[in-house]
Amino acid sequence: MIFGFGRKQNEDDDDDDEEEIDYVLFQGALNGNEPDMKGNAKLVQAGLLRAKELITNAIYRRAEMVRIEPKGTFAVSTLFVDGVPFPGSKMPSQAALAITQMLKLLAGLDVKLRTSPQTGGIKAQHADNKFEIRVDTMPTPTGERLIVRIRNVKQTFETPEELGWGNSLKEKIRELASQKKGIIIAAGPPLSGVSCAAFGLLRSIDAYLFNIYSLAKTGKDIAHVAEFKAEEGDTFQQTMARAIRAEGDVLFVPPVRDGELAKMLLEEAEDACIITEMTAKDCADAIARFVQFTEDPILSAERLHGVISQKLVRLLCTDCRQAYRPNPKLLQKVGLPPETKVLYRPPRPDEEEEDEEPEVCEKCGGVGYFGRTGMVEFIEINDAMKQIIEAGADPAKIRDQAKKDRMQSCQSDGMRLVAAGKTSLEELQRVFKPAK
Ligand SMILES: [Zn+2]
Repeated sequence: MIFGFGRKQNEDDDDDDEEEIDYVLFQGALNGNEPDMKGNAKLVQAGLLRAKELITNAIYRRAEMVRIEPKGTFAVSTLFVDGVPFPGSKMPSQAALAITQMLKLLAGLDVKLRTSPQTGGIKAQHADNKFEIRVDTMPTPTGERLIVRIRNVKQTFETPEELGWGNSLKEKIRELASQKKGIIIAAGPPLSGVSCAAFGLLRSIDAYLFNIYSLAKTGKDIAHVAEFKAEEGDTFQQTMARAIRAEGDVLFVPPVRDGELAKMLLEEAEDACIITEMTAKDCADAIARFVQFTEDPILSAERLHGVISQKLVRLLCTDCRQAYRPNPKLLQKVGLPPETKVLYRPPRPDEEEEDEEPEVCEKCGGVGYFGRTGMVEFIEINDAMKQIIEAGADPAKIRDQAKKDRMQSCQSDGMRLVAAGKTSLEELQRVFKPAK
């Protein structure tokens, strides 16, 4: 860690030349509102440096999110790095208030309004990186909760490579897309990176060979995907049909949330490969829900071609991971080949000499992990799966069949990452622990 939260300004340190910290620069509100810095001079004095410290520290620690929770006379901060919460520091409630109000001002929000939730964003720059900082505030009985999300504009985390998808999976997706018909679903619980997986599907498809149209508002510019605009008065199904007539091979459509859309997709999937997303626990759950939506198990079995679902797992820091020799019992228990010679884990401070000052890894700040990758489950609808779907798509039966056919599961993909030294058994355990 470069410096801590709520660090007191050194009173002798008035000289700007002594400034060593490369603070984040705020470059305007995303909603275009000009923050009235002069009219809020007192707030700026109390909050600007603190807000800069908070965001700069979060960037140094690679936090994607910071939460400040008021607790009466003080407030506590929590940083989320690669999806894992780390306690920040306690700060006086006045300091938390100054930070919250300052970030609201910078995000072009109403600083006088403290009793309703507000959402906004700030453009920012640190070193050579551009960031988008999303600011959410939510009233609580003792003040306002602040949630700040920090996103490096250049890092997308949605290409198959960034998501860590193996070659055989990419090959499979290409093969399915090349049939120019059928539905492929990216499924997962809310906030699990479902959209990332859906974009991963899109980006796995060769844009030189196929015409890909997006009929969904993606909010981003995907280089080889052309947005297909609806014509006034057209229903969504008419727009899909028009996209297919315009030689669309692959259509990216909005998430399936109801029977209406599911039934339309089922019809149009005769003439184009359709990629969509769905909220579901896993692939089997998504298949079962899709069939419930369409109320047509027979046609669903024919037109549904594949479902993908992913869980994110942290990658071990390559600078400080420690190799160890796993004992045969452990290997057997977790299902790794007995000839596995070496596995890796984060460094364990208790194993160091006690009188030695523990060295903190510069790359990961002592967390032991750096970045994340996806563990992917993929269910392909083969003949056996078709029969299960036609018979009502029981999720338990789908899972059994997938196992029997040795389809890729999140667990098996996770063990591949462990065997390759990319993540640890502890991390897999954390990810697969049932939610409380
Ligand atoms: Zn490290």
